[in-house]
Amino acid sequence: MEQNNFTGKNINENSINNAQKKLDNAQEHQAIENSNSYREPTEHEVLLISKSKEVVRKELSRLGVEARLDEYKIKFLDKNKGTGSYNSDSRIIEIDSKYKPDTILNTKYYLFRILSKLNPESKTISNFKTIIHEMIHAKSFHKYKIENNEVSSYRNGYLTKNDKGAYFRGLNEAITEKTVLDILNDENKKIKINLNILETKYRVELKIIENIVKKIAKKEGKEEKEIWDIFKEGHFSGNMMHLRKIEENFGEGSLRILAKMGSNEKLTSKENLLCYIYFSTNSIFIKKTILNKFKNE
Ligand SMILES: [Zn+2]
Repeated sequence: MEQNNFTGKNINENSINNAQKKLDNAQEHQAIENSNSYREPTEHEVLLISKSKEVVRKELSRLGVEARLDEYKIKFLDKNKGTGSYNSDSRIIEIDSKYKPDTILNTKYYLFRILSKLNPESKTISNFKTIIHEMIHAKSFHKYKIENNEVSSYRNGYLTKNDKGAYFRGLNEAITEKTVLDILNDENKKIKINLNILETKYRVELKIIENIVKKIAKKEGKEEKEIWDIFKEGHFSGNMMHLRKIEENFGEGSLRILAKMGSNEKLTSKENLLCYIYFSTNSIFIKKTILNKFKNE
């Protein structure tokens, strides 16, 4: 059973098996190395994990994509940073939030609390959103590169890496986060809370993908949702054909600009600011100026 996609020169069944073993070792290695800082998930968090799995699975089946079989691990850290991360080399999700004994065991009520931010003091409040976000990274398309007996992540969703650097990091985060917001909005249909208060770190990146989807939908005379679903599906299946539509609609070189958008989360990054302007403006002059700027770097 092949669990991952591999690429590389002269790879064969043998090198693929070796690479898979290395990935499994990396997972074990990270688990052992950080075992001191990991803690057991609370009863609550176990519920959140199973609820997250359920909602992500539901979204995948709606999109008609098969979930990756390759299993990730979820670990909880106790450093209280309130962050989450996913490492595609070790396939470990780390959720960092301080242990808090919690007596509320009703997931629906907990969801309500998360969505309505009834208790913004609590770090655990954003856990649900963080778990879904990282789970989407873990379930998104993976490809690994085998080179000189080494194996490394080559693609994870839209994020692509090579010797020169990483590309589409910002786009990858935007697609992931927008999918999370879709899922939460969908869940919210049952409990009906004003979701405008739901925070996201990726406002700028989201705005860019929204502009892209809007323009393509208008040009093709389709619903925005239909175009957005194609981008979302590609995140899990690895299909990237639709990216050509960005060049068709925003001009030659657009993808190069989009590829440079990082996940800085703020407009303080020059690349993200220029990317934001590029995908918002209708001025050919401004677009050309930005394109030239990127060309010269
Ligand atoms: Zn992320």
